[in-house]
Amino acid sequence: MLRSEISPSLNSAKYRSRVRRLSNLFARFLNGCLRAVRRAATDACLLCGGATRDGNPCPACRQALPRLPPSRCPTCAVPTVDGSLCGDCLQRPPAFDSTVAALEYRFPVDAMIRRFKYAGDLATGQALGRLFAEHAAAGGAAPMPELLIPMPLHPARLKARGFNQAAELARLIARQLGIPVSQALCARVRDTPEQAQLSWDERRRNVRGAFSCSRGVDGLHAAVVDDVLTTGATLNELARALKRCGAARVSAWVVARTVPD
Ligand SMILES: [Zn+2]
Ligand SMILES: [Zn+2]
Repeated sequence: MLRSEISPSLNSAKYRSRVRRLSNLFARFLNGCLRAVRRAATDACLLCGGATRDGNPCPACRQALPRLPPSRCPTCAVPTVDGSLCGDCLQRPPAFDSTVAALEYRFPVDAMIRRFKYAGDLATGQALGRLFAEHAAAGGAAPMPELLIPMPLHPARLKARGFNQAAELARLIARQLGIPVSQALCARVRDTPEQAQLSWDERRRNVRGAFSCSRGVDGLHAAVVDDVLTTGATLNELARALKRCGAARVSAWVVARTVPD
């Protein structure tokens, strides 16, 4: 008996295309699993696939990672000619006191951060956290803060993304450097639209009143941990909230900083 006689619908074009779609999906899923297993088994560099150890980029790739020039604004870490305050910080001093950024936000750092943040690749996030912790431990972060605070994500965003990338980074950095971390002292109480398309003033208005903090930060030097620093408007708003609650000093600890053209 022919199959078409039993169930003619099995031969329909719609059914065949559904099977093809499902088998494509399954093949992609299998490929992803195989890549993850291969990476774990050989401990390949997440940038070039070459040999490395402990999930870190290989020595050649680490060497090639974009770093910020040594001469930077002491407050926001934007490159300046002689390490003096930049024009923006002179004109409108932000509520945070200093910025520590391990890397410049451009290729391949931008791709690594996107892979971590939007594709949920935690191994890449851990590699980024370790790169920051090494930079801080090597003297890039003196004076050391007494407390790390991950940039809070609004509960709606957290639900959509499934994890807070800043909290993952902060936990790892805290462990590596032996500094306490607290996720409970600050909260994002207002969800705000994406900042990317907005001007600096719009960004500043956009995040007004977005955070609430507790007095647990009173008298402390706190460092806010985040993945990227762009204009600093969000960070400035959280630093304002921390200072209102008595924080003595607020540092920005970011894996990467964008450098304006
Ligand atoms: Zn490599
Ligand atoms: Zn500055």
